[in-house]
Amino acid sequence: MLTLALLLIGSHQTWAQANGKCGFVPTQEMIQRTLANKAAAENGLALDFRDGETYVPIKFHLIAKLDGSFRVDESNVFEALCYLNNAYIDQGIQFYIYQGFDYINNDVAWDFPEDNLFLMNSRKEARAVNIYIGNKAETPDDPSPGTTLAYYNPGYDWIVCKRSEVNGGSSTLAHELGHFFSLLHTFNGWECSPWDDEIHGNPVSSTTAPCPSLEDGDPVDVELADGSNCETAGDFLCDTPADYNFGLFDNGDCIYNYNCMDPSGNSMDPMENNFMSYFGNCASYVFTEEQEGLVAADLASRSILDTDFTPIATEIEGVPTLNYPVDGENVAYNTVAFNWTPVDGADRYILEYDIDQNFSLLAQEIIVWGTYKSVEGPFLENKEYFWRVRPLNAYYGCTSYSEKGTFMTTDAVAVKEVQEVNAFQVMPNPVAAGNDLQVNLDVNTGFDGQVILRSLDGRTIFAKEMAFATGSNVEFIPTQNLSAGIYMVSIVTQTGVSTKRVVVGN
Ligand SMILES: [Zn+2]
Repeated sequence: MLTLALLLIGSHQTWAQANGKCGFVPTQEMIQRTLANKAAAENGLALDFRDGETYVPIKFHLIAKLDGSFRVDESNVFEALCYLNNAYIDQGIQFYIYQGFDYINNDVAWDFPEDNLFLMNSRKEARAVNIYIGNKAETPDDPSPGTTLAYYNPGYDWIVCKRSEVNGGSSTLAHELGHFFSLLHTFNGWECSPWDDEIHGNPVSSTTAPCPSLEDGDPVDVELADGSNCETAGDFLCDTPADYNFGLFDNGDCIYNYNCMDPSGNSMDPMENNFMSYFGNCASYVFTEEQEGLVAADLASRSILDTDFTPIATEIEGVPTLNYPVDGENVAYNTVAFNWTPVDGADRYILEYDIDQNFSLLAQEIIVWGTYKSVEGPFLENKEYFWRVRPLNAYYGCTSYSEKGTFMTTDAVAVKEVQEVNAFQVMPNPVAAGNDLQVNLDVNTGFDGQVILRSLDGRTIFAKEMAFATGSNVEFIPTQNLSAGIYMVSIVTQTGVSTKRVVVGN
């Protein structure tokens, strides 16, 4: 029993579950950039650059399969943006979505974006940070343990992230942006081989780190616990204590719980809640002052980023009120028109609907630039639907959804055209509210029916019984008291319905 226990303690990698990891590998060039930024920060060069908040553009590339399925939800991207802006706000850095999302439908790129480098390159936005979100971020032939959640590729200067890491609770993108701004892991040099006393000894037996951190150069020195070689070892920063990748096998409590000693025999005391460590589930993460100095210096050196943006509002408070469909109302036809009240500061909204009241079954999300959207479905027939709306802008993602509303779909497509009608015209279209709509019908066989004007949510506004005669028929529909919007004019008989849409303007 004792032997087994020792074995288990001695070789934690054989049984512990690895946390997710980052696939970033620093190149020689990247290290040079890190060191140059460090020198600039120490000389105070970056401080002159900025005055107030700097808004850093991010181009999010949302990759789906070819048929458009399995794309990350836009609402999750906004939640990730909210997390990022909280993570960087004390550095005066805020991120915003650069000119909308880039939607990519490609099976190869969806599974692993860099399998389609040509496509990634063709969609890259030079003036923004590029983040490609696909199904996974596993780099090929990576021998080190753990699932890759994301990485920054210093050669292409872009970030690849697994879609499950894009949400309001994950620190992954904040970590990757740290790399984008030239930060190394606090455990630089230990990525490929986290400390294990059976492999590296205890005290650690080598003074050089195990992984070829400089791609074509020598490994960095092992950083000592007393900080005596902090300028030249590990991540080259002195306010991030030595770490030998203890976080990868951490049990998710954000507490260093090994008894590792550095090559000098001193006990380790890593900084668990540093954004650039691997410790998981910390209540919050921070960057150190020196890390922030590098970020500022790197940002100052990136003159091509479009940082002139000022958001339309710093925050969005409040949520929309849902106007229509009116709660619980039947909605005819296969098109549903949605409308809600505007919210200050929002220039776009996420409209979400589902037959599940928790929006977790067939939830559809649509970004709407405004407060009205007519959706062509497909909607299921004879179902209760739930819907809600979330206000947003390019910069502010920390918003809530409205209260949810409901509507019922009726027999959506059980509509036959009226056989007796040769031609059906409604004019003028658009019509100014207050003017009559003229309905012209050319009929091949006389019939009895109705002329009906409805709003898109199915309410009947005007209805008149008519005996249509063979030949030309004209009827007028008043439009007084109609608010601007889209309406439907229908000819209804016992055998079918013919419908035209008309636009009523002010
Ligand atoms: Zn990393």
